[in-house]
Amino acid sequence: MAKLVKAPALHWQILIALVLAVLFGVYLPGQVNYISWMGTIFLRALQMIIIPLVISSIISGVTNIGNAENLGRLGLKTIIYYISTSTLAILTGLALVNIVKPGVGADLNLTQEAELGLVEHTFKDTLIRIIPDNIFSSMTQNGELLSVIFYALIFGFFITQVPAKPRETLTGFFNAVFDVMMKVTMFIIRFTPFGIFGLVADRIAQQDDLGALVQSMGSYMLVVIAGLAIHALVTLPLIARFIGKINPLKHFHAVKTALLTAFSTSSSNATLPLTIQSVEENDGVSNKISSFTLPLGATINMDGTALYECVAVMFIAQAYGFDLTFGQQVIVVITSILASIGAAGVPMAGLVMITIILSAVGLPLEGVGLILAVDRILDMFRTSVNVWSDTCGAVVIARSEGEVLNV
Ligand code: ASP
Repeated sequence: MAKLVKAPALHWQILIALVLAVLFGVYLPGQVNYISWMGTIFLRALQMIIIPLVISSIISGVTNIGNAENLGRLGLKTIIYYISTSTLAILTGLALVNIVKPGVGADLNLTQEAELGLVEHTFKDTLIRIIPDNIFSSMTQNGELLSVIFYALIFGFFITQVPAKPRETLTGFFNAVFDVMMKVTMFIIRFTPFGIFGLVADRIAQQDDLGALVQSMGSYMLVVIAGLAIHALVTLPLIARFIGKINPLKHFHAVKTALLTAFSTSSSNATLPLTIQSVEENDGVSNKISSFTLPLGATINMDGTALYECVAVMFIAQAYGFDLTFGQQVIVVITSILASIGAAGVPMAGLVMITIILSAVGLPLEGVGLILAVDRILDMFRTSVNVWSDTCGAVVIARSEGEVLNV
C-alpha cells in the first residue's frame, strides 16, 4: 500500500523531538524513567557500530591510495597537508573554547555511575597505549579505539604493498564491509529523534537551573561555529593563497555546489562525486590528483570534525567542572586528530567518535547526551568545512605538482 503521508525530513523530526523532550523534562520530570531507555538504546546502537565502521572506513580509505607510485611524494604531501590543517583547526577551537569557556556555569551533576567510570591516564601512557599489545583485546575493550585506528591505518597501508591478487581481494572485501556499515549507520541514524527525545528529556529532568544550561549550549554552538568560520574563512584561504598560489574566492565559486551539498547532506562521502567533479571541471585539477586526494580526504581529512571534537570534549569537561591540565589538553588535541581520521564521512560520525576522546582523558561518557541535541545542526557546518579543506588540499597539491589551474 502506498504511503499517504510522507514523514518529514530527519532534521525536522529531530527538532520536534527536541521540543517534546524539553516539554517532557520540564513538566514530567518524575516520569522520565519511562522514556530514558530510548536514549540509552540509541547510545548503545551508536557504540555498537564503532569498531566495524571505523576499521572498514579507514582501510577502504587508505587502500584507495592505490599503487605504490602514488604513495611516494604525492602521498607524503597529501598527508602533511591533512595533518597540518587538522591541527590548525583544532588549535583554533582549543583557543576559543579556553577563552569563551561555554561549559563553565552549566553546572552538571555527575551521576554515580559516571563517577565510577572515571579513569586517569597519564600523557605518556595514552601515547604508548596507541600501540596495541593485542589488537583483538583492543577491539573488545571500551576506550581502546585509538589503537584500533592505528592498527587499521597500518593494515590498510600494507594492503597496498602486496601483489595485485591479495590486494584486490582485501580491498574489495573492506570496501564491501564499509558499504554495509554505511547502511547500518544510516539505519541507526533514522532513530536519532527517539534517541534525542530520551536523552534530552532525561538531562532536562535532572537539571536544576535550566536557563544556565540553555545559555551554555548556545555559547557552545557559537564557539564551534566561530571556530569553523575562522578556519574556513581565514586559515584555509591563506594556505590556498600563499602555498597554493590560487585565488581563494575563485576557488570557492568553483566548488560551491559541493559545499552546499555537504551542508545539506552532512556527509563527505555522499558529496564526494560532486567534489571530484567541481575540482576537476571548475578548478582544472587533473584526474590523477583529484582521484587520489579527494577520496582519501573524504575519509581521513576532517578539519571541521577535528575542531568540533576538541571543542565538544572541552565543553563537556567544563560543564562537569573538570579542569583539564595542559597535558590532558594535549591528549585532547592528539586524540581529536585521530578521531577525525577515524570518523567515517557520514552524518553524525563525529559524535560517535567523541566517546573515544572522553575515555582517553577520563571524562564521563554520559556527557555525549549533553551535546547530542545540537549535533545534527553542527554536523552541517563541520561537514562543509571538511569538504572545503579537501578541495583546498587538492588545488594546493595540484599546484605544487606544477599543474596549471583555472583559479
Ligand atoms: N558528517 C561528517 C562528514 O561526513 C563527519 C562528522 O560527523 O563529523 O564529514
